[in-house]
Amino acid sequence: MTPTSMTAARFHEVNEPLQLEEIPVPEIQEDEVLVQIKAVGLCGSDVHIVFEGVTPTPFKPITLGHEPCGVVAATGARVEDWEEGDRVSVTPLLFCSSCRNCITGHTNVCLKRKLLGIQENGALAEYMAAPAKNLVRLPEEVSFEVGAIITDAVATPFQVISERAALRAGETVAIYGAGGLGLHAVQISHLLGAQKIIVVDPREGQRERATQMGADLTIDPEETPPVEAIMEETGGLGVDVAAEFVGRGETISQCVESVGRGGRAVVAGLGPDPITIVPPTVFVRDGISLLGSYGFTKHNIEQLVNLAAAGKLNLEESITHTFPLDEVNTALKYLHEKIENPIRIAVTL
Ligand SMILES: [Zn+2]
Ligand SMILES: [Zn+2]
Repeated sequence: MTPTSMTAARFHEVNEPLQLEEIPVPEIQEDEVLVQIKAVGLCGSDVHIVFEGVTPTPFKPITLGHEPCGVVAATGARVEDWEEGDRVSVTPLLFCSSCRNCITGHTNVCLKRKLLGIQENGALAEYMAAPAKNLVRLPEEVSFEVGAIITDAVATPFQVISERAALRAGETVAIYGAGGLGLHAVQISHLLGAQKIIVVDPREGQRERATQMGADLTIDPEETPPVEAIMEETGGLGVDVAAEFVGRGETISQCVESVGRGGRAVVAGLGPDPITIVPPTVFVRDGISLLGSYGFTKHNIEQLVNLAAAGKLNLEESITHTFPLDEVNTALKYLHEKIENPIRIAVTL
């Protein structure tokens, strides 16, 4: 039997700790499931919400947590494919299934898109309600922690490299920013058969991790101008694909300048700076593609769960820290202040 009340970590005000509160277990609609949460990945977006207030939530208090993983605890009357006890990852991106983007499979840019844990109550709680269509089956071989971070920290760069950039075997890649997203982009590029992976990041520890995850060359942009180094490394051609996970004007410009004629530059970093790139005399004549990339599809999460289950993608080492729910504020502090240089932090229940 599902209890009637639960503990949830709720966001009330910017720069205040999340409050651990006893609130009612969410009621589910007939096409929803109740998920008993086992692990939740924390994300840079959580830090933005809690410490910076740059991503306002539509209501407060709200339960944060948008990398959910757990087991099915109850199903709505019209749910047929799921049973109590099923292990699941939950795609946090709510999509309508009927807008012009959803019907062409691009649910990440659904016109009615919302995110669990940012625009609706999320997973930093003992239970969460989610549409049954958002569930992805999680095999025993994949831990709940990995099943959690796949839903954003790995799925977002997967969408960037595999779909937006459409990286093909034998191509060269430059990755700007080796935080959680960028490091997973390195792994995914390696998996897809990139011939050469170049990573740009001023942090020595992150560059070392990038090398461990498959980068062939790392560049400290404070020591070496990255575009020149990339041109030199590619015999003056530039890379086929460059991806930006920082969200700053300067790195986006460098990302575009790093691609060669016919190259693809994809921006996934979020930030307020306007994008200033090369003049049209270069951009047009070189036939450069510049793309934004947001989120992921449920299919991306299924692909990643399968890759992890098959042992093709090792994500266990991405989870550098775990904390129980009642230490969620410590976990957020570790992420915010980059204490012990975390890749990804999971809250476990
Ligand atoms: Zn996120
Ligand atoms: Zn839609």
